[in-house]
Amino acid sequence: RAELTRAESLIREVPDYPSAGILFRDITPLLADGRAFRETVDALIAPFRGAFDVVAGLEARGFLLASAAAYASGAGLMPIRKAGKLPRPAAHVEYALEYGDAEVEAHADFPRGSRVLLIDDVLATGGTLVAAHTLLGELGYAAAGTAVLFEIAGLGGREAVGDPTLHTVFRS
Ligand code: 5GP
Repeated sequence: RAELTRAESLIREVPDYPSAGILFRDITPLLADGRAFRETVDALIAPFRGAFDVVAGLEARGFLLASAAAYASGAGLMPIRKAGKLPRPAAHVEYALEYGDAEVEAHADFPRGSRVLLIDDVLATGGTLVAAHTLLGELGYAAAGTAVLFEIAGLGGREAVGDPTLHTVFRS
């Protein structure tokens, strides 16, 4: 726990990025510290040990955590990508962002019914994770859980995701 407290202190708060009024949580100093990175990934997946076959990560920062989590647990890795990046998307989901729309896509490289642990770096309004869960459902996968490194409280993200398994390592 002391190591996790130290890891938390490495998350950098950047005011007015990417636009005025936004307090951006920059996780790169945490990734830069080998011990903190490892402890954090371990804490991210700890509640779900043995309960998932696949780790899905959201482009782009979610990839960094999901690939480490997949390697650490021996699970397969499913990249959930922004539109237009995959050669053979099997499902795509559109969702609304604060400004404009976004779209996520994935391949169907796992058997239907695979238990998928969904990972991202930051939970804000929850829109991204809701879209990702819809995508998993369209592909016939079972949600094994949702794990996020940092939860920004007060934006309704937890309520929007509505997943009782939602596990966040750090929160504001
Ligand atoms: P949401 O869909 O929950 O509103 O936003 C979450 C998505 O936006 C995540 O994929 C996350 O990477 C990105 N995001 C939003 N705010 C931040 C932030 O303060 N720091 C980082 N690193 N990512 C953020």
